[in-house]
Amino acid sequence: MIAARRRLAVLAACCAFFFSLSVFAAGPIDIQTSHHSPRELQEKLELEQLLNKYDVSKYTFTRTVVIEERAMNHAFPVLTLNVHFLGSDDELLSSFLHEQLHWYLAQHRFAMEDAVRQLKAMYPRAPVGLPEGADSEYSTYGHLIDCYLEIQADRELIGRERTNDSSRRGQDCRAG
Ligand SMILES: [Zn+2]
Repeated sequence: MIAARRRLAVLAACCAFFFSLSVFAAGPIDIQTSHHSPRELQEKLELEQLLNKYDVSKYTFTRTVVIEERAMNHAFPVLTLNVHFLGSDDELLSSFLHEQLHWYLAQHRFAMEDAVRQLKAMYPRAPVGLPEGADSEYSTYGHLIDCYLEIQADRELIGRERTNDSSRRGQDCRAG
């Protein structure tokens, strides 16, 4: 418990300045579907409704989203979401934010590298590979930062209780 609190404190310190640096993007988000399948089109509609409902401008760093039914969620080169969370608004929103935050971190590479260095010094031997880690050590540490920011964004948009519920079910903070 103390270790978990300490880790959170480190993450908070590492990430405290991130959003103060952000440049807010303007204009609509273009949501495309890869195969125009019914499920992809349904998720496009669901995501459009979510983006109308919640003000995500603070967390929008790329304005093109592709929905591809069989893809793994990923941020680059184009933010791509699968249909795994179709019908689960909070998880879909959280996945969108997660991939957007990868863009943010890529745009603030030096701050990201500094945060990873601090985390690595305090918590060496981070897991690599599934089920607990990402595909490299750097990516595992990077995901601690991305997921911390994702949780902060979720809390602001949907509140603490729904964030806790959503985070418990989410997979991106392990592997995506
Ligand atoms: Zn990820």
